[in-house]
Amino acid sequence: MKICADVGGSFIDIAVVDENASIQHRKKIPTPTGDWDAFTGVFADFQSDFVAQLRDDDPISIAFAGLAAPDTGIMTSANIECIHGRPLARDLAAALGRPVFVINDADAFVLAEAIMGVAQGHRRVFGLILGTGVGGGLIEDGRIVTGPSGIGGEWGHGQIMIPTPKAPDAVPVFECGCGRKGCLDTIGGARGLERLHHFLHDRTAKSSQITAAWEDGDATATATIDYFCDILAGSLAMILNTYPATVVPVGGGLSNSAALIRELDQRVRRDMLDAPAHPILVATLLGGNAGLLGAALAADQ
Ligand SMILES: [Zn+2]
Repeated sequence: MKICADVGGSFIDIAVVDENASIQHRKKIPTPTGDWDAFTGVFADFQSDFVAQLRDDDPISIAFAGLAAPDTGIMTSANIECIHGRPLARDLAAALGRPVFVINDADAFVLAEAIMGVAQGHRRVFGLILGTGVGGGLIEDGRIVTGPSGIGGEWGHGQIMIPTPKAPDAVPVFECGCGRKGCLDTIGGARGLERLHHFLHDRTAKSSQITAAWEDGDATATATIDYFCDILAGSLAMILNTYPATVVPVGGGLSNSAALIRELDQRVRRDMLDAPAHPILVATLLGGNAGLLGAALAADQ
C-alpha cells in the first residue's frame, strides 16, 4: 500500500493506492502554497488516518508540477513557494517517518498511460499535457527518460517565436515563466490559448469558451485555433521525427475537447516525415487518475 498525491498549485489530490492500483479514501485539499508546516500537515493528517493499515516502510509518492534535482533532491516549483528550493523528499520523509518519492506530474501522467492506460504495449511513448501550460514526458520500455538534471520531454521551453526586423509586432513573443521569451509554453496551454486569442483579436475569453466557439464554427475562434494547432503541430512533428514514439497520450484540461485532439492529430501527421495512417495523438484513458497512479508506479520502480 502507498499514500499517493498529485500536488498542484490549487489542490492536493491525495489517496491510498493498493497493490492492485485501486485508489481509495481519496481527498482533495487546498494546497498551502506558502506554508511548509501546513503543507507537511496535510500529509501527516492523512497518514494518521491509515497508520494502522500501513507498514512502516510503505512509501508516500508525490507527483507535482516542478522538478527535483536528481543529485540533491532540491525542488524547483513555480507555483508552490514553500517547497521551492527545498529537498522535499528528504524533509517530508524526516517529518513523516516513511520513505517519500517525488516525480514530475507530466512524467507521472505518461508513465501511468504507458503501463496501464491508452499507451499500453507501446515501447516508445511521448505524452503531453495541455493544461494551464504545456508539459510532457518520455517513456522507453516502461521507464521515464530524463537527463542528468531530471529534465525530459519538456517540449514547452526554448524560444520558437522570434520577431523579425521586417515584422517585429506580427509574432506573439510573450515572456515565459522560465525566464525566456517566446517559448511554446506561452501560447501552448489553456492560459496560452487565451493569451493568443487576445493577441489576435483583442478579445478576452476562457480557453473552454474559445474551443466551444471554434466547435460551433465561430470565425475568430477558428483563426485562433488554426494558429494554435499549427504552432503545436510543428513542434510535435519535430519531436516525433526525432523520437519515434508510436503513441502520444494527451491529458490536461484542453484534452477535454475531443475535436481539438483530432484537429491537432491531423496537423501533426501532416507535418511528420513518416506519419502513421491512424491517429497518433489519443485522449488519456486514465484522465484525472493518471497523476496518482503514475506516482504509485514510480514508487515501485
Ligand atoms: Zn519557457
